[in-house]
Amino acid sequence: MADQLAAIFQQIKKYNKIIIHRHQRPDPDAIGSQVGLAEILKASFPYKQIYVVGKHIPGFDWIGTMDEIDNQTFDDALVIVTDTANSPRIDDRRFNNGDELIKIDHHPNDEPFGDLMWVLPEASSCSEMIYDFYQRFAKELTLPKKAASALYAGIIGDTGRFLYPATSPRTMLVAGALMAAGADAAAISRRENEITLPLARLSAYVYEHLTILDHGAAYVVLTNDLLEKFGLTEAGTSAVVSLPGRIRDVTAWAIFVEQEDGHYRVRLRSKGPAINELAKHHDGGGHELASGAKAKDQDEIKQVIAELDHLTTADAQD
Ligand code: AMP
Repeated sequence: MADQLAAIFQQIKKYNKIIIHRHQRPDPDAIGSQVGLAEILKASFPYKQIYVVGKHIPGFDWIGTMDEIDNQTFDDALVIVTDTANSPRIDDRRFNNGDELIKIDHHPNDEPFGDLMWVLPEASSCSEMIYDFYQRFAKELTLPKKAASALYAGIIGDTGRFLYPATSPRTMLVAGALMAAGADAAAISRRENEITLPLARLSAYVYEHLTILDHGAAYVVLTNDLLEKFGLTEAGTSAVVSLPGRIRDVTAWAIFVEQEDGHYRVRLRSKGPAINELAKHHDGGGHELASGAKAKDQDEIKQVIAELDHLTTADAQD
């Protein structure tokens, strides 16, 4: 892996223009790894042009904002994609228009892409990997406070503030190093933990209407009508996804969120059985304990629930 890192660093040094992408519907780790890497490169190579691209998400402006660049900017550019397992999910579809493409990710490598790849599924987050990258070449790189803060935001996002099993001794060491580099851990944690009043009310709805099956599978369906009633859009529902996991009896759960076109985004989480194969059966994928998929109608919702029930039943019998 060290050679892969050295090869990536060599390309970074070679190109004067570097454009960094991440996945659609970003979470703090997508933005944190993207912005963290960009800020390290800007501070280390002030003469290079470094851009971050993808849809502007106002809720993440506190981590970093995106650049608007024209098509020509991709000429002779090095493109790096962080935190994105498969190419259809890359935000800003011009990712192939650069000179070379590099994938840096911590999801299972279901779709290898790019001229160079560095993929570590055991890493807690892509942000942790970006810190590792910085540390490997620390003699030639600078870690400014803005990068440390973005990476810290990414790590606590993907580990649920160090709650999920992907949190390793290394994760804690990296978190400490980021604090030492200026990340205000308490302020960042408070910021990520904050919810709006409509989200607080939706949280109450989720707990009230969660169906829990005998072997620990649980689910709730959030329709467009319901979200409208709460004054929320489907994109603003992320904060409720982890809630069922706090219930002792719940082992694995699905939150079905209706989309504008009537299909359902399925957000799958687990504390035990791996759910990423289930996600793959339904046009999705992800990590063993956190995946996403799609259900086209009520029948497919029932199918996903039945498969989740099957997984938790098998897990309970182990
Ligand atoms: P989400 O519920 O959207 O936060 O997704 C949880 C995890 O599953 C993320 O790490 C995503 O990378 C992955 N994931 C979500 N949706 C998909 C999809 N349609 N295809 C592949 N992976 C996905």
